[in-house]
Amino acid sequence: MVAAAALLRRLSARAAPALNALRESNHIRRFPIGTAGAISGGAAFYYFYSSPPTVAQLDAQGEQTAGVVALDPDKWLEFKLQDTARVSHNTQLFRFSFDPATKLGLDVASCIITRAPIGEETEGRRKFVIRPYTPITDPESNGYFDLLIKVYPEGKMSQHFASLKPGDVLEVKGPIEKLRYTPNMKKKIGMVAGGTGITPMLQVIKAVLKNPDDYTQAYFLGLC
Ligand SMILES: Cc1cc2nc3c(=O)[nH]c(=O)nc-3n(C[C@H](O)[C@H](O)[C@H](O)COP(=O)(O)OP(=O)(O)OC[C@H]3O[C@@H](n4cnc5c(N)ncnc54)[C@H](O)[C@@H]3O)c2cc1C
Repeated sequence: MVAAAALLRRLSARAAPALNALRESNHIRRFPIGTAGAISGGAAFYYFYSSPPTVAQLDAQGEQTAGVVALDPDKWLEFKLQDTARVSHNTQLFRFSFDPATKLGLDVASCIITRAPIGEETEGRRKFVIRPYTPITDPESNGYFDLLIKVYPEGKMSQHFASLKPGDVLEVKGPIEKLRYTPNMKKKIGMVAGGTGITPMLQVIKAVLKNPDDYTQAYFLGLC
């Protein structure tokens, strides 16, 4: 547990400037939208949507959206790239957004699959490159998910990721469950991972650490 907690602290310290940059950029983008609304006489509209919701509104919203998830295991759905942040010389964080009233719909530990139209059309049919990735966001997060991706110089999909600009979309399907983690299902869990193999381990480690009633001891050995 100590080893896993130390690993998370180190990763957080590394990703903190990148994540802060993401948060700041969100803030900067929202401001002009509100200002424009006020100037064009939409002040009341802006006030309504920027005011904290009442308890009754939250209850109503909660009833409508409880259990609503953004992912569909049978359908390719488009998710918009909100922002990116560099984490190391070859690794980037990609934040995708969706309806903030919903959750992604991912259980620990699961991955998603992504596809991108890469390459020539053959016989009038589009060719896609398909690759799995493991979101590192808390499954309870509303409205966004983060992918931590190593960009390979010749990698088809990772180069596609690297070429994406905020506002571009990515097609995603899922989730695909790898292992259903339940609190205290094991007394100790040992994890060994290399490179980006860390991402599914992060899902489990975060799930253990965020639950005060989970007494699992998690050990992580990372190979670079
Ligand atoms: C369940 C699962 C979860 C995953 N989660 C993540 C994640 O969270 N983050 C992440 O970054 N990755 C993750 N991956 C890996 C990811 O799916 C891709 O494999 C990875 O991004 C590389 O894909 P690519 O298309 O960019 O590279 P590819 O085009 O597949 O190439 C990969 C590497 O091999 C080299 N290569 C390709 N073809 C050849 C060849 N013929 N000869 C020699 N070398 C070659 C390329 O130059 C490149 O360096 C996950 C994989 C799995 C199975």
